[in-house]
Amino acid sequence: MTTASVDPLDTIVRLSRLVGSDPRLVQPGGGNTSIKVGETLLVKGSGTDLRTIGRDGFTTLSLPRLAALAGVDEKSDADMMRFMAGCMLADGPAPSVETPLHSLLPHRVIAHTHDVATMSLTNTADPSAERLVAELFEGQIVYVPYCRPGFPLARAVGAMVGRIPPAATGLTLAHHGLVVWGADAEETHQRLLGVVGKIDEYIAASRRGRLRGRPAPPSPALTPTASPEQRARGASGGAERR
Ligand SMILES: [Zn+2]
Repeated sequence: MTTASVDPLDTIVRLSRLVGSDPRLVQPGGGNTSIKVGETLLVKGSGTDLRTIGRDGFTTLSLPRLAALAGVDEKSDADMMRFMAGCMLADGPAPSVETPLHSLLPHRVIAHTHDVATMSLTNTADPSAERLVAELFEGQIVYVPYCRPGFPLARAVGAMVGRIPPAATGLTLAHHGLVVWGADAEETHQRLLGVVGKIDEYIAASRRGRLRGRPAPPSPALTPTASPEQRARGASGGAERR
């Protein structure tokens, strides 16, 4: 049996379109995807839409150069964007402000969503949301308290990379979305669907419990208060790009 060679960029383009076209997974325009090939990161660039992205929507960056971001305590978002532009290995779209989510985590294929399920689940105080995530996923998905997208989120993720359990397959970013990884695009997609499906089931069950008048488990509000974009705009005057 011969094995056809599959271009990694084509697999991530296909994953991106699947994720982008599923309204459970991303709000229009949100979310991003990446694949690592040797010491190169291919990551969705700024200003492209997952639903229609093609090969030219990805930017090619040097992972060894990006790794320098891990030890930095303070950097403005503008400086971070300049730093990342300096890590580009070929012409392409500018790296998005969420690129460090992809470069600092070591996993090969990563999908990051701005999904309503995660925003609903985490629309409560950190201790409750963290406990809910722990109960639902038993360590498979790690809770990350809200950090503004940009350098603050990059720093938070960089600081926790060494503490992520080996069996974990993703992160919930409170009030923001999911980060799910896998060895290839197919595994990442299946895991992402599994995580969102489990959250949706929990929310539906807690809603049914309330309707029957039973004491329900602490449940999330069903409507997120603000999208990550709205929060980021509020914090930085609309300069966010992803
Ligand atoms: Zn995001």
